[in-house]
Amino acid sequence: MKSSKLSSILLGCFLLLSLSASAEETIVKLIPPVINADTIGIKYACMRPKRENGINISAKKIERNKIVINCYGHGGAGWTTLFGSIQKAIQLFEEEKISKETPIRIVGSGCIGLCMATELSHSGYNVSGIYTKSLYDPVSWRSAGFFGLLAVADVQEVIPLAKESFIVYQQISQGKHPYLARDAVRYLPIYCTQETEGELAFLVQLGLVPPKQQVTLAFEGGATHSGYYQYMTFFMNTGILMQNFLSEIHKKNIPIEIKTIHSFSEIQEQVIVNCTGFGAGELNQDTNLNAVRGHLIALNDLSGPGHLDYMILTSVLQDQEAQPLYMTPKCLIVTPDHPEGIHSLGVIGVTFIPHAEKLSAEQLQELDQNAYQKLLERASLFFFQKPYKSPSPKEAG
Ligand SMILES: Cc1cc2nc3c(=O)[nH]c(=O)nc-3n(C[C@H](O)[C@H](O)[C@H](O)COP(=O)(O)OP(=O)(O)OC[C@H]3O[C@@H](n4cnc5c(N)ncnc54)[C@H](O)[C@@H]3O)c2cc1C
Repeated sequence: MKSSKLSSILLGCFLLLSLSASAEETIVKLIPPVINADTIGIKYACMRPKRENGINISAKKIERNKIVINCYGHGGAGWTTLFGSIQKAIQLFEEEKISKETPIRIVGSGCIGLCMATELSHSGYNVSGIYTKSLYDPVSWRSAGFFGLLAVADVQEVIPLAKESFIVYQQISQGKHPYLARDAVRYLPIYCTQETEGELAFLVQLGLVPPKQQVTLAFEGGATHSGYYQYMTFFMNTGILMQNFLSEIHKKNIPIEIKTIHSFSEIQEQVIVNCTGFGAGELNQDTNLNAVRGHLIALNDLSGPGHLDYMILTSVLQDQEAQPLYMTPKCLIVTPDHPEGIHSLGVIGVTFIPHAEKLSAEQLQELDQNAYQKLLERASLFFFQKPYKSPSPKEAG
């Protein structure tokens, strides 16, 4: 009697627990990308310009009447903090009482430089031109496109910049932005774990997105993962945004000149905006810059379109260590060899390798090959729970 009472209590508890678990954890069915030798497109690596003591948005008087407005060091969140950073820099123009007639020279044509030029010009300032080392090489074209705080030195410092930027991305997605196209951003679910949600949780705390939901991910024909969180955030189609900025700059007749600046004294204008990203280390004698290398692999049309409606931000146990893995629906990869852009069906990533500026060309080459292989292996483990099958030399041609 006693034991049957105990078993019915235990059964009751079990049912209650299963009910509450299933009530909390919704099963989300997802289509994974096809990942094999035929579906892999371009592989590429680039550097996040991380400033260890925080983003530098400041005004500095140099030689006689010149002033430099600095805006660099955005690490892995340059797109996430973009519009907030530009607004903060434009406030400095007001504080420094820079007249709207004074010619302004911008150095750098990444997202910070191009957005700075268009926004200053829209605010009535006189942008005389942009000097840049390279138009299609900047990391800004290649970023994955999450709205989230990845690889930043000081999260609390950048939250207000991210908040301002989020509001602008909302405006773009609603087709209400004066010059950025609606299809340049998408509001999408992103799936992360307790370890990776730190980059997104501030969005809920600020009331910008709905609360997270606990979910189980069930990949069709692949792996199942419980204990995940679904957040909502923006995917920023960075190749398209960069093209939008460039066409606005052309419309405003702002000339872009390919020229490497070694010292601000080479510049004629009295007002200079320094948007040189990692280049600011040399130009500004700033020793706090750290080139954090990241690797991405684009997927081609054969990978199928099923994975383009969601994003992943997680980590996978590899060689006994949790290694980062993410995926976004990035659809245009622009490089100096392909300024028109290469079409893709999303990218998988990523790595965060600090101080890559200290490595030689040979060391970088070895690092990159190793990183791509490891990335494919952990993507295969995550989506399909099986090791990545590299093509045999014969299959690879
Ligand atoms: C793999 C990877 C993924 C990323 N994903 C995301 C993401 O999902 N979300 C996000 O928000 N951010 C992401 N980022 C970070 C983002 O790309 C950067 O924070 C942002 O692009 C920095 O922009 P920037 O304009 O400061 O620098 P850059 O794009 O590097 O531009 C710097 C410009 O300055 C020029 N320049 C430099 N030195 C000189 C000089 N001496 N004279 C003339 N010109 C000079 C360069 O030619 C270039 O035009 C990612 C970065 C990497 C590497």
